[in-house]
Amino acid sequence: MSILVVGSVAFDSIRTPHGTVDRCLGGAATHFALAASFFTHIRVIGVVGEDFTAEHEAVFHARKIDIAGIERAAGNSFHWTGEYRENLNEAQTLRTDLNVFERFQPKIPEAYLDSEFLFLANIDPVLQHQVRKQMPRVLMVCGDTMNYWITGHAENLAHMLHDLDALLINDGEAKLLAKEANLVRAAARIMEMGPKTLIVKHGEYGSTAFFGEQSFPVRVCNRFFRAPALPLEEVVDPTGAGDSFAGGFFGYLASQLEITPAVFKRAMFYGGVMGSFTVERFGTERLQQLTREEIDERFGRFRELSHLDAE
Ligand code: AMP
Repeated sequence: MSILVVGSVAFDSIRTPHGTVDRCLGGAATHFALAASFFTHIRVIGVVGEDFTAEHEAVFHARKIDIAGIERAAGNSFHWTGEYRENLNEAQTLRTDLNVFERFQPKIPEAYLDSEFLFLANIDPVLQHQVRKQMPRVLMVCGDTMNYWITGHAENLAHMLHDLDALLINDGEAKLLAKEANLVRAAARIMEMGPKTLIVKHGEYGSTAFFGEQSFPVRVCNRFFRAPALPLEEVVDPTGAGDSFAGGFFGYLASQLEITPAVFKRAMFYGGVMGSFTVERFGTERLQQLTREEIDERFGRFRELSHLDAE
């Protein structure tokens, strides 16, 4: 099974209480692809500028991620500048330079058209919708967005939300999108906007899936399912945790023959596992050196965290 992902491939300049990094490899599609590549085959659609070098390409190649769909354009790559203060669950965006993404018109290579799964990672909802339209036969579509698009591009976002089987966003974004402070009511309102299932990420507190009447691909535990996050002693840089969660979640789902309620629950756990690795170092550093054995070992710790029946 293959996942096609469209989203930002970027350089990030980040300040956290642990230090600063300037222009490290980042972007929503990058973090997603690295995390999901431990579970299934990944193809990326995006655009980069002249500042994206062979060294950056090698990061994708090392994980066997297909980047033939990443276009090269004149100018600079997307550049995000952000900061985390005491609350590591909340990024403050200092600057967003769209650069080459401003004129990007996504074209799906012929060889990508048979992808079974589609992930619309965080980027302009107009681009997300354009890619969705070009992939009418995919089995399942998940997507993400953030404050920047919720507040500044509401109309385009509303259009894109109808494209989704599942939306994955963090709880602040869910409340902002629904204009509702109570999460359960916010979730109900968001599912009326299009997505059949909603997955809310709570940073260091785990994640919750909300299921409506029409939930797809499954309905679990009637209305909600909550998965834990691993309590960590040290969080170096939360950037990319949400995309890594999405990569672990969707990558695991796509790797299974059938999506049952048990598979869906395990996918939520794998999401948490991948997010917990990402925050241990700046940028993509931790995912680049991760092994499948470490993932399995941590999955076992997640299971212990929340398993009531085992001795
Ligand atoms: P998260 O997983 O939510 O921490 O997402 C982090 C990534 O989102 C960073 O690597 C940024 O490059 C990327 N990003 C930040 N702002 C935007 C935006 N407005 N559109 C697309 N990607 C963004």
